[in-house]
Amino acid sequence: MKQNLRGIKQQELKEEIKNLGIPAFRAEQIFISVHSKLAKNLDEVKGIPKELALKLNPHFTIEPLDLITSTTSKDETVKFLFGTGDTISRKVKIESVLIKEEDRNTVCVSTQAGCNAGCEFCATGKMGLLRNLTPAEIVSQIYEIISITGIVPSNLVFMGMGEPFLNYASLMDSLEILTDKKGFGIPSRRITVSTVGFTGRIKKFADDISANANLRNIKLALSLHSTDRGFRETLIPVSKKNTLPAIYDELVYFYRKTGNKVTYEYIYFEGLNDTDNDVKRLAKLQRMIPSNINVIPFHPVDFELKPPLDILNKKIHEKIIHGKEKSLSNSKNLLDFIARLRKERVTVNLRSSSGVDINAACGQLAVKN
Ligand code: SF4
Repeated sequence: MKQNLRGIKQQELKEEIKNLGIPAFRAEQIFISVHSKLAKNLDEVKGIPKELALKLNPHFTIEPLDLITSTTSKDETVKFLFGTGDTISRKVKIESVLIKEEDRNTVCVSTQAGCNAGCEFCATGKMGLLRNLTPAEIVSQIYEIISITGIVPSNLVFMGMGEPFLNYASLMDSLEILTDKKGFGIPSRRITVSTVGFTGRIKKFADDISANANLRNIKLALSLHSTDRGFRETLIPVSKKNTLPAIYDELVYFYRKTGNKVTYEYIYFEGLNDTDNDVKRLAKLQRMIPSNINVIPFHPVDFELKPPLDILNKKIHEKIIHGKEKSLSNSKNLLDFIARLRKERVTVNLRSSSGVDINAACGQLAVKN
């Protein structure tokens, strides 16, 4: 089976090329064409003789994603629906988002088609997991967006469909490819990887990125959403096995190992995670390691919801239904919650709801395959 050149790291490519009896310098040439010049097929790989192209052809291909649709929101956020190719892996549809801001252009990247973590507030979680994306499919989301819009993103956030740490090997390969200075070469400080938190994985991630100079400054975001264990376990079922105290220990390890700040993502559920006790716990958490909190207005999900199982689920369910009718981004209580956090000297930002009108905001990505 042919390998997609977009998913092969430079060092691996050198070895594969050597095994074919082709001089190693050709591997660098090919890598530059694929990841810097964004060649879309072998014919676009520059500077290689015809006989070499013929030699590569049985072993390698370049398989871009197919653009199915793109939708632009009022605030110019663009959501892309891509179809993956069918020669290498099972065909699925995925979404990626381009968020345009004054000082940056950010691509929100997907790592899985669907997700089986089952978070209550997330449309992707309602899809279940269709399959993990390959490194080539992860990388290609960015390359297709550049080729469609002409915009080279300044920042990448791994916060699209899927839980990056549940597709760890592909995540790490794609990060290595994207930060390779001979290729796309995005600086690692402009990349954020977001997780709901898995014990063992945060530590491993800290070890892995600190061992690689190209990855060292990647930032970590924890989808926290509540410091109350019971409420968090209702919101994020996988947190029953990956408890908050264990995750906190790993975050301390992450900071000590990498020196990188951690961001806590905190979806605001009015009346459920904004009490004075929540404020006190968040202030304590922030004193643990240098960090900041992004408060995110709840974004309604346009997806069939399961009937509530218990009282807490019922309350969340009501919030979700309520959110369908009313945006909470300017709610007085949300602003009051932020003011109370600031009074406790918590570094807190109110995250924008870019793309909410096209279901492209946090927690809204979902496709029917
Ligand atoms: S929030 Fe992330 S981990 Fe949870 S279901 Fe959605 S994609 Fe999966």
